[in-house]
Formats: sequence, structure tokens, C-alpha cells
Amino acid sequence: MKAVAVYPGKPNSVHMAELSKPSVDDIPDGKGVLVKVLKVGVDATDREINEALYGNPPPGFEFLVIGHESFGVVEAVGPQVRNLKPGDYVTATVRRPGGSIFDKIGTYDMTSDETYYERGINLLHGYMTEYFVDHSDYIVIVPPGLKHLHVLMEPMSCAAKAIQQAFEVQRRLRVWRPQRAFVMGAGQIGLLSTLILRLRGLDVYTVARRRAPRLPAEIVQGFGATYVSMQDISTEELARQVGKPDLIMEATGNSTVAFDSMKVLGHNGVLVWHSVTGGDKQTLVASDKINIEFVLGNKLLLGSVNANREHFESGIKDMALGEVMYPGVLQKILTHPVDGIDNYHQMMRLLVEENDALKVYVNIATA
Ligand code: BGC
Ligand code: ZN
Repeated sequence: MKAVAVYPGKPNSVHMAELSKPSVDDIPDGKGVLVKVLKVGVDATDREINEALYGNPPPGFEFLVIGHESFGVVEAVGPQVRNLKPGDYVTATVRRPGGSIFDKIGTYDMTSDETYYERGINLLHGYMTEYFVDHSDYIVIVPPGLKHLHVLMEPMSCAAKAIQQAFEVQRRLRVWRPQRAFVMGAGQIGLLSTLILRLRGLDVYTVARRRAPRLPAEIVQGFGATYVSMQDISTEELARQVGKPDLIMEATGNSTVAFDSMKVLGHNGVLVWHSVTGGDKQTLVASDKINIEFVLGNKLLLGSVNANREHFESGIKDMALGEVMYPGVLQKILTHPVDGIDNYHQMMRLLVEENDALKVYVNIATA
């Protein structure tokens, strides 16, 4: 089979590799699910892996097959698989369990191990190939009515986890009725988070770094939220005008914005950091001011990565609700298709150069 891979540690090494076709019997206990890959999405993580900022090959390989945002159709299932059948549309979770207690109870997204295993990112091959097989525990059904949203399931799971975690930790307050949220960043995670927060009834301000490119503003407004550009108004001025937020979801990919967001959080609020910043930038921060305000305001800073099966399922439910509440808006995120696995150079070029791309994805096969 064809597979798009990199040599981790070697910048710009994206290339076509070969894998042998897997089979359901590769997975023990009759629990294998063989998936024919239809589409794979890429994001900043794939770009940074190709820049050799992180990522490791599986043991015994020099290359790592990339791609962690999968969409496919079940081709075959092992004899012990009850919840899936050939023809079902599916996606797959990214992380696989390590050895900690969190891994053992299915919350591998919360592993306390230093080493983590993620398909397409670290120590496990990804999905940018023609077929993959995995244990049915990691394969998540996509309702046929949402198949037009295909590769958004994985990014949605990460947004769903981050916001679910924020609500979970805020139970410290006994009563928490968040009214206002700032979402920092209008990329895929920012837009999907905007939807989730709108579905929970919050007044949402989605703050982009750039000045209103038409499409993200249209999507934000389509979800009934307010689009704001940092070029037009500072986040501090926004907070003065509309009030400080009870929740901030930071997803710009920029650590300066992540720290700056600390300055506008309301009392008892929660700031979720979600950007994976692979560089080594340093930022001067107003540490006294931020420190005193966090202490005097009982504020909370929360990091969130990855997602487990439950978050895929809740994210998919929110997408279904999103389609009912705001029909046709979600699919506007799917901006840049690339036809065929052979066109991986075009895929990488779009990922690096196309500032207006909200989602680059590869059409690998048809069902
Ligand atoms: C992926 C997550 C992953 C994270 C860190 C993100 O791009 O979507 O599943 O946990 O990178 O590797
Ligand atoms: Zn990702």
C-alpha cells in the first residue's frame, strides 16, 4: 500500500513509503476492524512533524506514516466485533494506552506516562495510507448523516474534551453559570469550540489574530457568535467593552497569546490552553499583575490535549446538533481538498503556504 511518511528528525522529509496491507487478524481476540481510508485531514501538527519539531517512528522503522484525522469505511471485522459492520462510516481515536492507571480505565488522553503513543504523531503509524486496522475500542462510528463532515471528527473530539474538562473543573465552584466566553483563534479548533460553547448557550466572542478574512467571520457569525480581530481591538479593550469572560479557550497556536489571555479572565474563570507550540519562543510577561489577579480572583489555568473515545462520541453528537441549529455552517470549514494520495506535495504546500486554509485534507478513495 502507498503511505505518506516522514523521517522524524529530518526537516521536509515528506515522501511516499510502502506498507503491507493489514488484516483483521493482526488484532488479538477477534476484535480487529479493517478500515478502508477515504479521507485524511492534516493540521499544524503534521506541518511541525515535517519540520522535525517532534514526532518519532514506530520501533523498527525509520519512517513515520503521518495523518491522525481519519475518515473511512469498515471493510471487515473480526468475529468478536459486535458494534460495527462492513459499510459503516468510521473515524479512529489517535492516542493508544500506555501503562498508567489513566490508560487502564480508557482515559489514555490523560496518561501520566512521559511517553505517549499517538497514531501519525508519536511511535505509531498514522492513517495516511490505503487501509488500517485497529482494535474496535478505538474505532468510532460516524452517522451517515454526518459523512459530509468526515475529517472534522478528530479535531472536534479535541475541542469537545477541552471544553468538557473546563466544565468538569469548574464544579469546584458548586454553582457555575458561565455567561461569556472568548475563543482565541479562528482556525479549526477555534471554530469548533465556538460551536460547542454556543450550543451550551454562552455569548461567544471568537478572537482572530488576523483582520477579518471573510470565511472564518462568516462561520463564526453562522454559529451566532461575534467575530473580533486583534488587529482592530485588543483583547483587553474587548473585555472592557463586553465584560471579562468566564471561560477562555485558547487555540491560536501562539504562546504569547496564551499568556496574554491570562490578563482578561474574569473572577472564578477558567482559561484552557490548547495550542501545541513546538518552537522555543520566549515572551516577557506581566508576572506580578497576572499572579495577583489569579490569586485574588480564584482563577484557573487548564491544559488540555488529545481526546478519548467518549469525547469523539460527544463531539459527534454536538456536530449533529450543530447541523440542526446552524445548518450547513460546519462544512464551510472544509476548505482545501487535495485529490489523491499521490498529491502529498500539494497537501504539504497548502498546509505551509495557504494562510486562508481552515482545513486541508486528502481524498484518498471513494466508498
Ligand atoms: C492532535 C491530538 C494530539 C496532539 C498532540 C493534535 O494535533 O489532534 O490528537 O494529542 O496533536 O500530539
Ligand atoms: Zn491534530
